[in-house]
Amino acid sequence: MGKRYHCEYCDKTLVAAPSTIRTHNNGSVHQKLVNDHYQQFKDPETILEEESSKRPCTRYITSQCPFGSICRYSHYTPEEINNLKYYVAEKKKLQTKNPVSFGDIYEKFIVDNTTQVTTKENESVIYDSNGYTHILPWAYNPIFDNYSDLPPSIKRLKMSDFDNSNIVTWG
Ligand SMILES: [Zn+2]
Ligand SMILES: [Zn+2]
Repeated sequence: MGKRYHCEYCDKTLVAAPSTIRTHNNGSVHQKLVNDHYQQFKDPETILEEESSKRPCTRYITSQCPFGSICRYSHYTPEEINNLKYYVAEKKKLQTKNPVSFGDIYEKFIVDNTTQVTTKENESVIYDSNGYTHILPWAYNPIFDNYSDLPPSIKRLKMSDFDNSNIVTWG
């Protein structure tokens, strides 16, 4: 028995002769299965682009179409195309929105300090103008205000802490 070639897509074993493999790879059954396999990894933008240029497959509407994903007509219903369009548009919208800026965080910090909002939720969450929720990696626990001998690293900062005259020169 000669060498064997196994096609993963078709789950079929062939004689490992170049001409046999080539014939198999050019066959429509093989190409359909390869296409089916990669269709699931395509992003919606690619599918939408491909399907928008095709006319609906009349065979597929009434029954099964033997060409599957290699059919030159579209197997997507108008509703599915609309869903893809909606998804792609929403995704684009998200990409063009600006991420939260340092200014937003600074603004939040200043507002919290002046209005004395001390709930944990308000200290660590920012809702920006793009509708994003940002959870800040830190949250000041107001319970620390009850202690007067806290190490500087967990003390709440006051504006006076940034006053130049208060900076201690290290030896
Ligand atoms: Zn194959
Ligand atoms: Zn078709």
